[in-house]
Amino acid sequence: MTLSISQRLALLHQHIAESERKYARVTGAVQLLAVSKTQPASKVAEAIAAGQHAFAENYLQEALEKQLALQDEPLTWHFIGPIQSNKTRQIAAHFQWVHTVERLKIAQRLNDQRPDELPPLNILLQVNLSGEASKSGVSLAELPALAASVNVLPRLHLRGLMAIPAPETDFVRQRAAFRPLSLARDALLQAGYTDCTELSMGMSQDFVAAIAEGATMIRIGTDIFGPRTA
Ligand SMILES: *Cc1c(COP(=O)(O)O)cnc(C)c1O
Repeated sequence: MTLSISQRLALLHQHIAESERKYARVTGAVQLLAVSKTQPASKVAEAIAAGQHAFAENYLQEALEKQLALQDEPLTWHFIGPIQSNKTRQIAAHFQWVHTVERLKIAQRLNDQRPDELPPLNILLQVNLSGEASKSGVSLAELPALAASVNVLPRLHLRGLMAIPAPETDFVRQRAAFRPLSLARDALLQAGYTDCTELSMGMSQDFVAAIAEGATMIRIGTDIFGPRTA
């Protein structure tokens, strides 16, 4: 049986609400980001019709095309892909959130290039936990220094942390993989970064474990749009 995007979103919202209850999270604490990479604008439009308004993209060119096609919709766009220096200007101009800041140089460019008429760009620092699937991210050891440097950039708003742990099928191991990110976020809050409340972690295969460990944003592609064919 093939489910529609609207049906998949409804199931996902049920699953998120159940997980919030089960793991003693505040109702509504977990925001669902629809990862629309490789999906055409028509699929994104289907998700919008079903009430989804926050989307995440990995590839700039592809994202800009969809944003143009959907420009009349009140959407929030999150950039979740690797960032090359030559892409920062457009990322700073066309996204509300960036999850993948791992170097000060990139943060400085985003800060300098954020258009004056827009509010500060919301930033999550990508952390490289050990055993990480992608090699991207700042180490836990270097995180405090990066956070301190990014926090003073006036056109950026440091909001929390993001990670992509190596895929695990076992729930206990999934939770264990997310735990250090949650602790690192808590340490930033304790250190006085009071706006560092966000934890972007969890994808289709491991979002329940991420919710159990405190995720505030889960990034879901496959469970909404089906398997990526591109
Ligand atoms: C593709 C991607 C996702 C979504 O993955 P699914 O397994 O399809 O839910 C989430 N986060 C990042 C960074 C991605 O690249």
